Amino acid sequence: MTLDITTILVLFLLNNLLITALLAVSFRGRRTPTTDLWIASLAVQTVAWILFVARGKIPDSFSIILAASMLSLSWAMLTDAFCEFFEFPLKRSWIYFPALLTLAAFWWNLDNLANRNIFGGLIFSAQYIAAALIVLTRSDKWRALRTFIGITAVVMAIMLFARAAIAFHAPATIPALNVASPFQTITFLVGDAARLALSFGFLLLIEAKRSDEITRLATLDSLTEAYNRRTFMELAERELARARRYRQPLGLMFLDLDHFKKVNDTHGHLTGDTVLRQIKKVAESCLRQQDVFGRYGGEEFCVLLPDTDLAGTQILADRMRKDIENFVLRLDDGTQLRITASIGVSAVPAGVDNIELDNLIEYADLALYQAKKQGRNLVVAENMAEPTLAMA
Ligand code: GH3
Ligand code: MG
Ligand code: MG
Repeated sequence: MTLDITTILVLFLLNNLLITALLAVSFRGRRTPTTDLWIASLAVQTVAWILFVARGKIPDSFSIILAASMLSLSWAMLTDAFCEFFEFPLKRSWIYFPALLTLAAFWWNLDNLANRNIFGGLIFSAQYIAAALIVLTRSDKWRALRTFIGITAVVMAIMLFARAAIAFHAPATIPALNVASPFQTITFLVGDAARLALSFGFLLLIEAKRSDEITRLATLDSLTEAYNRRTFMELAERELARARRYRQPLGLMFLDLDHFKKVNDTHGHLTGDTVLRQIKKVAESCLRQQDVFGRYGGEEFCVLLPDTDLAGTQILADRMRKDIENFVLRLDDGTQLRITASIGVSAVPAGVDNIELDNLIEYADLALYQAKKQGRNLVVAENMAEPTLAMA
């Protein structure tokens, strides 16, 4: 199958312009270095294809050397955009070096089509492999989407490498870019499909990241990154329902830092914030994957422990209390800051299904009150099967 080369090139250009416009419109008002790079890359590619189309009407140095270099530059910009997106620490000079290399290779080989095909194929192919590696290896999120983009880049790399290999073994098979041939048709079709797939994949990646960020902001407390109170309550309701269904126990801890106001008063609120962040980490390190950790308010944290009875919750709470007691925060001025926590504990016993979340929290809160009353840096448990504190 050989398609008319002018038709393909015009379609190619049109697609390029359409995608550029679509992305420019879609990122208006929320541009980032990543989106700017991507759009600029498509714009540079458009200019490159215009130069290719003008072959014969403008000097060859423009329609061949400059066009190929701009193509390489546009792919470097795609790589740069991926580096920005995935925070991949690749030096700019490495990213853009292939464009210079293309310029040199095409300059030296202006009269040697086979060599241009070999060098171009190899350089461009390496650029796509680099992009694929960044996308495939850099993050563990959005796996399906990254795989899709990575495979697209690999297909492009294979196609470009094949061009180089064929140009090496059978130079006559690949004519100049403006001459129709089956292999030219394949090059353009794969290139067009790849650009479409890469750009839509990229758009979806940006959206996926944004959506993750919005979810994070809505569910986590911004200071400590523990679940915020609303999310904790939602998750707690779900855990309570599950505990009832499977007749499992469910433990709850209520943790309040002791004399925290004094930390703020003595060292300032910023140090107080650091203490909160650090204590959250210390506390979380005592927990299991399935435990739900939330910031209930101010310097109060709560932890839900699925499939854990009162005794188990108490043991864990005491371990956490000790870890906090042993934790030392070193301030910039050399001061060593220590803090303690009081923890109230309650639990829904296995098989009991008439306890609501509010009751569970109320009992843990009462136990916490007792821990404070009894001198702080303590764990007090309230047994809901045989309540004592509630009646006190
Ligand atoms: P107790 O041992 O009885 O719990 O004493 P306390 O000083 O910890 O209790 P109190 O409730 O009187 O004070 C809590 C303090 O926590 C008051 C408030 O300024 C501080 N606080 C609440 N939220 C934050 C925060 O996000 N950052 C900082 N730095 N301080 C906070
Ligand atoms: Mg408090
Ligand atoms: Mg306190």
